[in-house]
Amino acid sequence: MENMKFEEMGLRENVLKGIKDMGFVTPSPVQSQSIPIALGGSDLIAQAQTGTGKTAAFSIPILNQIEKNGEIEALVITPTRELAMQISDEIFKLGKFVRIKTVCVYGGQSIRRQCELLENNPQVLVATPGRLLDHLKNDRIPNFSPKVVVLDESDEMLDMGFLDDVEEIFSYLPSNRQTLLFSATMPEQIQKLAHKILDNPKYVKITPANITNTDITQKCYVINEGHRDEAIVRLMDVFTPQKSIIFTSTKKEADALAERLVEAKYRAGALHGDMDQRARMDSIRAFKANKISILVATDVAARGLDISDVSHVFNYHIPLNPESYVHRIGRTGRAGKKGMAITLITPLEFKELKRIQDEVKHSLELEELPMYEASHNELVQKILKTKIADEAMDIYNELIDKHDETNSVLKLISYILKEGSKNKIGPNQQEIKRLQEQENKPKNEDRGFRNSNRRDFGSRNNSSRGFSRSGGYSSKERR
Ligand code: ADP
Ligand code: MG
Repeated sequence: MENMKFEEMGLRENVLKGIKDMGFVTPSPVQSQSIPIALGGSDLIAQAQTGTGKTAAFSIPILNQIEKNGEIEALVITPTRELAMQISDEIFKLGKFVRIKTVCVYGGQSIRRQCELLENNPQVLVATPGRLLDHLKNDRIPNFSPKVVVLDESDEMLDMGFLDDVEEIFSYLPSNRQTLLFSATMPEQIQKLAHKILDNPKYVKITPANITNTDITQKCYVINEGHRDEAIVRLMDVFTPQKSIIFTSTKKEADALAERLVEAKYRAGALHGDMDQRARMDSIRAFKANKISILVATDVAARGLDISDVSHVFNYHIPLNPESYVHRIGRTGRAGKKGMAITLITPLEFKELKRIQDEVKHSLELEELPMYEASHNELVQKILKTKIADEAMDIYNELIDKHDETNSVLKLISYILKEGSKNKIGPNQQEIKRLQEQENKPKNEDRGFRNSNRRDFGSRNNSSRGFSRSGGYSSKERR
């Protein structure tokens, strides 16, 4: 069953054509296991790591059962508007030859506009919980009798406090439906919910050796508080990421850092929940179209976003829980590509790192922030771009009194070069080692108190990746 091919699943010709058109050659593990079960009509709980193709795992069976009977035949519930759009886009593309209509409803868009779209006889509805419930309560969804209902990114739904809404939504759904639940992790509340809304489900659980995928190089740089911005700029200059996401803990930080990067001539934009829908979409579009190359985002806004070619993910702070770390770094190294995840950490945060390491079962070395030497050309460009400060004139006059102009300029440049070499940020490797040893000394205080109200990660499970658009599996990737 594990390696079942798309052609062996008994899919309709026009669905297979859509899959091929998307460039999918080999099903990912979660797809090869889930699709046959979903096609068989059973309820399903599928658990697999982010970036493993869960969207197509439910979209393909949905498309295969579309009858175009004038009803909304399938419903997908997902936590954020961006995800809703992404999913509806993927279903639309996969369904290119089935010629289906999808409608997306989410908060922040005009209700009237959504009602117009709903009048258009779509076959698939993709929705976020709040707005969907609102439409259902007010009886605004015509011809609504979904045969298939998907709960996507269920653990995110829990994190965002949507579980009550979700449960209420199910009271409006036909009881003879098929329900498919997808999640990267399976916390207890999700299991409880599954028990309530699913009927005799089958399980798919994809387990990798490591939770985070091996296509992602993980790095951790030690800095002191107050130097985060400089550190980010330094790392940008050293690694010159093609496309990167920087995760901040707050919306304010996201704005401030994006602004600072723009001032420093990086092509950056912010993405967070305080921005209105249009501004958020603008940022995502600009990022996808390479108009900006750095997205400074908060967790929630960037959840589940599938943007290909993100080469680097930065954690401005170490994330507060290991799950968030896994989700964040999963934005890079997608669909078999290589990626790098870089975390800034202060000595006070070493504890947090330990919890993350325990969780991802991957040791993260603490490194000293690299030095950066600008090339001559860069230096010249920087000097040319610099605005002349008021005091500069006074200093110039003083210098000119003592030396001729050429001499003064040469002295000045030499001074910049010398100062520029003192560009150390954060502790050096020796200091890091000392700080680490200090941290490892047994203390009597109650360590790990935060663990007490942590979610149960014990049952967590993630899938190995190992699919690619063009070449299918390599034998090394196949597990
Ligand atoms: P998840 O929901 O598990 O986080 P997604 O469904 O967003 O992951 O898929 C991640 C990426 O992998 C998407 O760009 C998707 O188009 C791509 N993908 C999905 N299935 C396949 C496949 N069988 N072959 C190649 N690429 C795939
Ligand atoms: Mg997903």
